[in-house]
Amino acid sequence: MPVKLLGMTFEELKNWLVNDLKQKPFRAKQIFTWLHFRRVLSFDEMTDLSLKFRNVLKSAAAITLPEQVTRVESEDGTAKYLLKLPGGPAESVLIPDPPRFTACLSTQYGCRMGCRFCMTGQAGFHGNMSADEIVAQLYTMSGNSDLRISNVVLMGMGEPMDNWDPVQNALEIISDDRGICIGQRKITVSTVGLPGGIRKLVDMEKQYGLAVSLHSAVQKTREILIPAAKVISLSQLKHDMLEYTGTTGRRVTLEYCLIQGVNDSIDEARALADYSRGLPCKINLLIYNPVPGLEWKPPDEETVHSFTEYLYPRCQAVTFRRSRGGEVAGACGQLGTSVLKKQNGTRQNRAPKHKTLFS
Ligand code: SF4
Repeated sequence: MPVKLLGMTFEELKNWLVNDLKQKPFRAKQIFTWLHFRRVLSFDEMTDLSLKFRNVLKSAAAITLPEQVTRVESEDGTAKYLLKLPGGPAESVLIPDPPRFTACLSTQYGCRMGCRFCMTGQAGFHGNMSADEIVAQLYTMSGNSDLRISNVVLMGMGEPMDNWDPVQNALEIISDDRGICIGQRKITVSTVGLPGGIRKLVDMEKQYGLAVSLHSAVQKTREILIPAAKVISLSQLKHDMLEYTGTTGRRVTLEYCLIQGVNDSIDEARALADYSRGLPCKINLLIYNPVPGLEWKPPDEETVHSFTEYLYPRCQAVTFRRSRGGEVAGACGQLGTSVLKKQNGTRQNRAPKHKTLFS
């Protein structure tokens, strides 16, 4: 099996070149620069490598990009990509907000967390992505254009902490200043807070951002929305987040998607304000994007107003995330259509019942 070069960290590449191909270590810098700095994805164009060595590389390694099946763009410029990767279909989203261009990448085919409001969660789990497949999404988005992606969020399909090793490699590759060089502080890992997951991010001793999909600070409500929350106590989650904020000196983002009649009451707002006390954090509110076939609805404006008015004076920082890409089903919780489509033929509007890890 040829090794997949796009998914190798600099150190892995060097070790492979030295140990397997018996090359000098400087080859790693040459190849890494071609791939991730110059974005040359063909061995033939790596002109400072001898023809003989390029032929060796061709038989021992592969540079594979996903096939772009469709690219749909919403009025605000948000683009959703449906990609064909070795493990199946996957979706990624590009959110332009010049000068910032944010890539929302997937880390798994589907997801095992089964969040009840999320299309991906309803699509079930179909496998993990390799580091190569995570990184390659970036290259497919930027293609041959001059587009420079400035920010990355791991908020697409999948739970990053449930596929940690490839995610960790992808983080290292994307932030490596010999290549893509997206600053650690501009890369955010989003998680529901799987036990031990945040610890792994802390152990990296880096500055990557952390976003926690909280959605309720009431254990019972959270378990309704996120079946995985059955194995995540809110107190342990807060403890893990404090470990992150204490080690990195960074605030954590608490993602809170307001859903009508579920987590939008003043009691829920009070629980959220109480929970966030003492935790260096920013609460990021988002109004639910309806998903075809799912029963959930966004709250009305008055309810949103009351909820935010309750929070503002009681919390350190509360923001509203503008929902982007709703028309192309590229907004939060709306990815995974392709996976559902694959399972159901043409039936997209009814989410099937799937066994998840926690239900
Ligand atoms: Fe998975 Fe995130 Fe969807 Fe939950 S919200 S099912 S963690 S992709």
